[in-house]
Amino acid sequence: MSENSAPDAQDKVFRLLDYEATCPDCGVAVGEEHEFDDYDECDIAICLMTGLQRLMCDLDHDCGREKWTGWAPGLIDCEEFGWMLGPGFPDIFRLYTEARWDPEKGRWVKLT
Ligand SMILES: [Zn+2]
Ligand SMILES: [Zn+2]
Repeated sequence: MSENSAPDAQDKVFRLLDYEATCPDCGVAVGEEHEFDDYDECDIAICLMTGLQRLMCDLDHDCGREKWTGWAPGLIDCEEFGWMLGPGFPDIFRLYTEARWDPEKGRWVKLT
């Protein structure tokens, strides 16, 4: 019996590998806000206004407090748009150039 070799089962394994129960940088659990203070600035957290890395955001606005979703930022959006370089590797450059961040929806939307 080697049902594990079925293509369907392999897809599920990749999905599970993508998923992280805690943030790889600051270690908060899914649904919790990333650590972000003077001592510990999570570099996974995104600015909820721009969709870009919060660490790099120096705009004069409230960046909000993003929660860890279990997937790296942009991964789900790229999967939905079909913009993957390979399993678990979203084409982030394409996301930044061919989509725009919608702060109200809190996700990327395709430019048309
Ligand atoms: Zn984090
Ligand atoms: Zn910001």
